[in-house]
Amino acid sequence: MQPTITEERERLAPSIAELERVFATETRAVVAARGLTRTYGKGDASVHALRHVDIDITEGKLTAIMGPSGSGKSTLMHILAGLDQPTGGRVSIDGVEITRLKEKKLTQLRRDKIGFIFQSFNLLATLTADENIVLPLSLARRKADAAWRRSVIEAVGLQDRLTHRPAELSGGQQQRVAVARALITRPAVLFADEPTGNLDSRTGGEVLDLLRRSVDEFGQTVIMVTHDAGAASIADRIVFLKDGRIELDEDRMTRDDIYDTIKNLETPAATVRVAVGAER
Ligand code: ADP
Ligand code: MG
Repeated sequence: MQPTITEERERLAPSIAELERVFATETRAVVAARGLTRTYGKGDASVHALRHVDIDITEGKLTAIMGPSGSGKSTLMHILAGLDQPTGGRVSIDGVEITRLKEKKLTQLRRDKIGFIFQSFNLLATLTADENIVLPLSLARRKADAAWRRSVIEAVGLQDRLTHRPAELSGGQQQRVAVARALITRPAVLFADEPTGNLDSRTGGEVLDLLRRSVDEFGQTVIMVTHDAGAASIADRIVFLKDGRIELDEDRMTRDDIYDTIKNLETPAATVRVAVGAER
């Protein structure tokens, strides 16, 4: 009988751990997590949303996190971003272990090092596009570098919409404001939670292009949670979660391969025969 991926992973675990130790000194992880677990509730009613997740996010890459509904994507992202505490394990961002920080320091670190893009844009309705974009700097009492501010606004193509309020902008434009707001502080890492979830495919595509360009042109590190195979196909790396574990961790994949892999993961107790390199 063919060994399952889980059995193979267990067999290879010691060698992988050794390799990781070697590579750790050579590659730079902006976000590093070790042994993450997250359990909701207690006793019989407890849910293991994450079961021992190790992950390193490399600088200047776009990493997509995928997986069936309930596989732990949001939980993982919230913990990596310091919005939730793990039950066990640790996370560091830009060399700082956030799982040990007190709330005040953590808030400060999130403000200085992390950008967020949400599915529902989360802009402030009473502020103009321009005011929304510079809000993170205003909150940190920092001034925008004029040249950087121009580059960001040009990149998102909102030069002639700066005085509009969110209600006067389309969904795609609002999300582009949100991208600019996330980029303005030059965060160590930008987290995007289903950034195209509320957009049609064309405007969604524009937002994805923008995320891709922020990586290619500005060297931005991006972590994107998505359930859309098309969205994940712009990623440099795709991490597939299932039942709170990393089931597969792949470099660039085509939309079709991603789609097939997801379908496979969603099938309960399926023979896990995913395209590990073979079809690429
Ligand atoms: P995904 O984002 O992949 O859909 P989540 O991270 O939201 O998955 O959830 C992972 C698991 O944890 C699911 O079984 C979910 O029901 C459970 N879960 C998430 N948040 C809570 C919570 N606040 N309380 C109890 N269970 C939760
Ligand atoms: Mg989710």
